[in-house]
Amino acid sequence: MATERALPNLWHATAPAAPHTAPLADDLTVEVAIVGGGFTGLSAALHLAEAGVRAAVIEARMIGFGGSGRNVGLVNAGMWVKPDDLVATLGAAAGNRLLVELGDGPSLVYDLVAKYGIECEAVRNGTLHMSLGTEGLKEIREREAQWKKRGAPVEVLPAEKAQALSGAEGFTGALLDRRAGTIQPLAYARGLARAALAAGAKIFTDTPLLSANRQGNHWRLQTGRGTVTARHVILATNAYGGLVADVPWKEYRQELTILPYFQFATNPLPDKVAARILPERQGAWDTGLVMTSFRMDKQNRLIFGSIGRLDAMAAGTHRAFAGRSVRKLFPYIGDVRFEHWWDGRIGMTTNNLPVMHVLADNVVSVSGYNGRGIAPGTVFGRALARHVTGDTSAIPLAETPITPDPWRMLKSVFYHAGAQAKHFIDKRF
Ligand SMILES: Cc1cc2nc3c(=O)[nH]c(=O)nc-3n(C[C@H](O)[C@H](O)[C@H](O)COP(=O)(O)OP(=O)(O)OC[C@H]3O[C@@H](n4cnc5c(N)ncnc54)[C@H](O)[C@@H]3O)c2cc1C
Repeated sequence: MATERALPNLWHATAPAAPHTAPLADDLTVEVAIVGGGFTGLSAALHLAEAGVRAAVIEARMIGFGGSGRNVGLVNAGMWVKPDDLVATLGAAAGNRLLVELGDGPSLVYDLVAKYGIECEAVRNGTLHMSLGTEGLKEIREREAQWKKRGAPVEVLPAEKAQALSGAEGFTGALLDRRAGTIQPLAYARGLARAALAAGAKIFTDTPLLSANRQGNHWRLQTGRGTVTARHVILATNAYGGLVADVPWKEYRQELTILPYFQFATNPLPDKVAARILPERQGAWDTGLVMTSFRMDKQNRLIFGSIGRLDAMAAGTHRAFAGRSVRKLFPYIGDVRFEHWWDGRIGMTTNNLPVMHVLADNVVSVSGYNGRGIAPGTVFGRALARHVTGDTSAIPLAETPITPDPWRMLKSVFYHAGAQAKHFIDKRF
């Protein structure tokens, strides 16, 4: 089991307080029970409550305990997989539909932020996919061509412009995607929760699902103390399912390979330095096989991340790599110290695309966002809400059976060890 170096992280230090929630202590009956209080579960709860449907979220720990409270905050359009590859995997009709819905995903996020006045450091100036070497440049040019033929506002910037917009040295170009932006992710999750509560949803924290039984045409969910009886269940535990409880529908846990990802945040930088790094405040990541990301927060901290887990053996290696990388990317940065660091679990699927399952009668899940969960989680949460209220074509993914990945543990170890080896060597010489 991964060492969880997560709480409190930077996002907890700077997010507005979570709305008041408490553990479920009684027996409750609702139309829809939602397991998991991240973007997916909270978006489902909000959209159900907006539609006047009685819904309750049960969250094992706290709002945003999973990926939703630990991520980089890049509100991306589409998946990490190239658009043409996505269509080749899913077929033209399904693939293009998914691309349209996820391409519009950032708009849904920023519309909700505006509609509910969510304070989450929201900036929508695009994101920068920074290219490394000629191979990287080729890759972003392919992405540009594939998105452009679908009408998306993306543009490859030459090296000088990429350097000016990122403030970073060493890149051969960048793909600017104007649909995208950044947020403070935990603040967004807490804002969704606040909006859902105000619209009439119920949210119970420190309330793990422990077991589920079918009773007539309802499900009875047993938590630590109370029970929830519901006609429909939305399982939104994603890469954090199984972390805190032995959830029912166990096979669900055997599908995702866990990719660990860490972040280090500096002290707030002096104004002159902060004005040179990402001056328009896009978020950035690179084309490296062991990718790295960087962004600024509202207090002018630089947040640098990459693949790896901050366990006792690896933390020193990753920290030293982060320090070397930051100085190499931004040679003018001066003395900085890392004030916050944390890691999290990204849920990867074998084809790098999300999966939709009907796990039992009226039990539905979408998971496996492969590191792209802010906009997709919000989109799929809304789609799940529509699905359980009768629109069975609302989810832009075909239902598939669970396909346990026998190699997932090995792959996870490989990601962890490979990233550690890469970071030990990288930028030393
Ligand atoms: C380090 C990191 C960086 C990332 N960067 C980005 C990024 O920049 N952009 C982007 O779009 N995506 C990013 N992602 C991915 C994104 O964060 C996730 O895809 C997204 O948060 C998933 O949301 P979710 O609601 O589906 O699941 P989660 O947010 O993981 O929520 C699942 C919840 O289920 C709860 N749970 C588990 N078991 C139980 C149980 N038995 N009973 C009750 N509750 C339970 C957990 O406590 C958890 O709170 C990143 C992820 C990580 C980890």
